Amino acid sequence: DQMMQIRQQNCNPMTMKVTSYKRPVFIHQGHMQWLWDVDGKRYLDLFAGVATVSVGHCHPRVTEAAVRQLKKLWHTTNIYVYPPIHEYCEKLASYLPDPLKVIYLTNSGSEANDLAMLMARLYTGNFDIITFRNSYHGGSPQTMGLTSNAAYKYPVPSGLGCTNTMCPDVFRGIWGGSHCRDSPVQTIRECSCPQGCCVANENYIGQLKDTFATSVPSQIAAFFAEPIQGVGGAVQYPKNYLKEAYKLVRERGGVCIADEVQTGFGRTGSHFWGFQGHGVIPDIVTMAKGIGNGFPMGAVVTTPEIAASFAKAVHFNTFGGNPVACTVASAVLDTITTEGIQQNSLEVGTYLLTQLAKLRDTYEIIGDVRGKGLQIGVEMVKDKTSREPLPVHAVGEIFEDIKDMGVLIGKGGLFGQTFRIQPPMCITLEDADFFLAVFNKALFKYMERR
Ligand code: PMP
Repeated sequence: DQMMQIRQQNCNPMTMKVTSYKRPVFIHQGHMQWLWDVDGKRYLDLFAGVATVSVGHCHPRVTEAAVRQLKKLWHTTNIYVYPPIHEYCEKLASYLPDPLKVIYLTNSGSEANDLAMLMARLYTGNFDIITFRNSYHGGSPQTMGLTSNAAYKYPVPSGLGCTNTMCPDVFRGIWGGSHCRDSPVQTIRECSCPQGCCVANENYIGQLKDTFATSVPSQIAAFFAEPIQGVGGAVQYPKNYLKEAYKLVRERGGVCIADEVQTGFGRTGSHFWGFQGHGVIPDIVTMAKGIGNGFPMGAVVTTPEIAASFAKAVHFNTFGGNPVACTVASAVLDTITTEGIQQNSLEVGTYLLTQLAKLRDTYEIIGDVRGKGLQIGVEMVKDKTSREPLPVHAVGEIFEDIKDMGVLIGKGGLFGQTFRIQPPMCITLEDADFFLAVFNKALFKYMERR
């Protein structure tokens, strides 16, 4: 009955939200890059539960580790010392550069960002935070303040502490903005907007300087940036932008926070962490999603100096660092390393980017193809001249067709106009070819109808 109701109303009873699809998908099983629905139909999963299943659904090695741990011990809290948690933290720390060696474990990305925000404020004694236009940092009341896209914010009246609509102490809109009105979400690297402005890194650094001059008092607490924007639609920064921005932020007393919730754990292919692709070392790194391959887990990593100022109160998190989560996360790290997952992300991702760029040259409605490794965005536009977003219903039709042909992808961007490809990082070149053929067919069909 409930299934019938969902089918009729297209509504997920868990969230009371309309599902992404007009004709909902009922998933009940997964293996590696594949998902099966209740009718036995198989889908190639190119969205990984929003960039979360890093090494593959029910990956045998990770599943086996989880089962072993489930039979041994589920829970301790951090009141007791459970050695495998410490072993995991040591292992995770070995993937991070000095001085990022102190780890706090959480259960989600929002929790991690909440904690990072608090740490930055306690350490610096400052309050103001800078985030980006088009950013996503979480759905908790605090992190909603950091998130820029209004679609994810609830209209809570002001006066309730840090409101989640527009935190008065959070400034954004630094980059990708006014110059590019016709194409708010776009590749800065290969800007093709009529003004051709985005290649000029100085414009964006100029915007940051303007923000300091006009909005932010002399000292700031933190600068939050996703190394590549995820929900925003795989939006990238101009070359050297983050390096220069980190310098300016630190000169003004702030700390630099890298939100690696989507970009971490080898997703960008060329590096294990997204920040490494920018040649910077953040003061605080937050992570979640891929850390647990779908098992709830998050972490904040910082320097001993910042951690010391955070030790003024007792930090407690009942489930953070749960033995099962740590065991799973440890198996995920081992899998990434021993199975060449990051290298695969680079190879298959580069292949996809190259082939998608050919489709971009073929179809008037593909405005941009961007990203790195297996974090890819395909921005859909009305036409290449205006670069206006393709209307939501049209994007939806293509999205639905792709699903009907057996491939699940994601959507993002300010207007929901960017397709997102962030699959389990075990996908193969054959899978990529299968998707490319399906995408081509869906685009062709849409152009014929239009
Ligand atoms: N940061 C980024 C970059 C994210 O993409 C997300 C989730 N989409 C979050 C933080 C929040 O993570 P969670 O949903 O686990 O709270």
